[in-house]
Amino acid sequence: MNRIVFATNNKHKLAEVSEILKGKFEVLSLLEIGCTEDIPETAETLEGNALLKARYVKEKYGFDCFADDTGLEIEALNFAPGVISARYAGEQRNMADNIAKVMQELDGKASRKAQFRTIVAYLKGDQEYTFEGKVLGEITAQQSGTGGFGYDSIFRPEGFNETFAELGSAQKNAISHRALAIKKLIQFMQENA
Ligand code: IMP
Repeated sequence: MNRIVFATNNKHKLAEVSEILKGKFEVLSLLEIGCTEDIPETAETLEGNALLKARYVKEKYGFDCFADDTGLEIEALNFAPGVISARYAGEQRNMADNIAKVMQELDGKASRKAQFRTIVAYLKGDQEYTFEGKVLGEITAQQSGTGGFGYDSIFRPEGFNETFAELGSAQKNAISHRALAIKKLIQFMQENA
């Protein structure tokens, strides 16, 4: 089977993407190629960060690979937290604090519209490609559900009554921002194999 490196050690993302690519590609994590260092994510856009991660792996380890960067973009907050979603409430990168900050900032706001947006950067040989996936929805009044990760417990995708954390991995993977970007990547890989 084809092997591809996914430039992440986030076990939730690895599980999601491995499930999506099951039977098509064997997905190797950073740990599996011996990369244990923290790759800097210092760019000002999702695209910039996805490219930084993928380039780091390509330059240091020589593998064709892909990396993703995701942001939660909330309309009433001028699309914050966006690229700083992981450290919205500070450098401690604590999800409970990040969620509390989102809830506090949205308190009293008329609109709770939001979107998750993922950029996947794929480096093949000396070529760089990017793919976008996004899912519209809203921030719920309260947290609910225990599945998923990150902001899943406060995001309800359009057309559903449950949050991502309540939907379960199969349903989330059928509609999520990351799944959409990964599907575009797979289609591209198949057309350019
Ligand atoms: P990154 O893509 O790892 O930089 O993620 C940025 C932030 O968004 C982190 O706080 C993640 O927990 C959060 N995040 C990324 N993907 C998802 C998702 O699918 N659901 C909920 N939160 C996510």
